[in-house]
Amino acid sequence: MATQKRRKKKKKNLTGGELLAFKVLMTVCAALLCVTTVRNLTAGGAKSAVGNVSEETVLSGRDMTGGDAQAAGQETGDVSTAAAMTTVPTATPTPTPDPYADKPDIDINSWEYILANPWNSIEDYYPDVVQIEDIEVDYRIYDAMESFVSDCRAAGNTVYLSSGYRSYDLQKYLFEKKCEEYDEETAATIVARPGTSEHQTGLAADITEEYYEYKNASLEDTAMYQWMEAHCQDYGFIVRFPNGKEDITGIIYEPWHFRYVGVEAATYIMEHNLTLEEFVALYKDDVAGAADADDAGDAAGSDTDDDGETDNADYGDAADESDFANDADAVQDSVVES
Ligand SMILES: [Zn+2]
Repeated sequence: MATQKRRKKKKKNLTGGELLAFKVLMTVCAALLCVTTVRNLTAGGAKSAVGNVSEETVLSGRDMTGGDAQAAGQETGDVSTAAAMTTVPTATPTPTPDPYADKPDIDINSWEYILANPWNSIEDYYPDVVQIEDIEVDYRIYDAMESFVSDCRAAGNTVYLSSGYRSYDLQKYLFEKKCEEYDEETAATIVARPGTSEHQTGLAADITEEYYEYKNASLEDTAMYQWMEAHCQDYGFIVRFPNGKEDITGIIYEPWHFRYVGVEAATYIMEHNLTLEEFVALYKDDVAGAADADDAGDAAGSDTDDDGETDNADYGDAADESDFANDADAVQDSVVES
């Protein structure tokens, strides 16, 4: 009975109005199949077909691996291939050649490349220093500094060495004194925390024109700076805090601050418009004990300490309070004077 009922019902349905609809549907399907076949056989068919063809190709491509999908795209003609290429992942990209493959063959852990910055403390590093005019520098750069300055003078410029080596103790004193006026975080935006000042390396000097009153960016307009910027690498010095690299150095543009790195490295750094951070990072695999040297700021010869405040670049590096007062106008939000 049940079977008969179902047959009856089925028969009733087939003989009803839906039969016509079913036939129409079958006809439409057959027609669509024909159209699709014709389109696939005729590359560059009617423009109205382009969208559908592309979509079909892409859908089939999703179920295939890269090579198969590409082949499917090619079979359906140029238009389909182009569509497939935009959605199907392509093969291995061509490796870009290393632009710094010609970097100097040096030991990045040598003393010339020691890196002190807001992210990299050199702790209480004490170089052996000697007096040169009004400042002190590491004895190993005395000759280079002497030649640099005297040749600049011989070219008709006036030169004043305004700040050189600063000891850990002096930096600590300056920082703690500032902490009496402000909370520690704020103080660190004005005076560099002890251990993070470039001046503690004994390899840096602030050089100004003798009669130039303030350290600010306009120093770059002096003939003295232009001579020094053009010739510093010949004596082993670099412009340590270049314009436009503030995010990398953490320090504002300082056309007065020169740093010794040796002639070979200096020449490379100046010719490639690099910072010391970027240069050291080129040797990240060679850095002693650098666990996270992929961060330019962490790549250093002496990463004995990370103060854990890598997000805060607000460390000052004032030579002394009056120096900082002179430069206060130039201090920006996240980058300060060295
Ligand atoms: Zn300086």
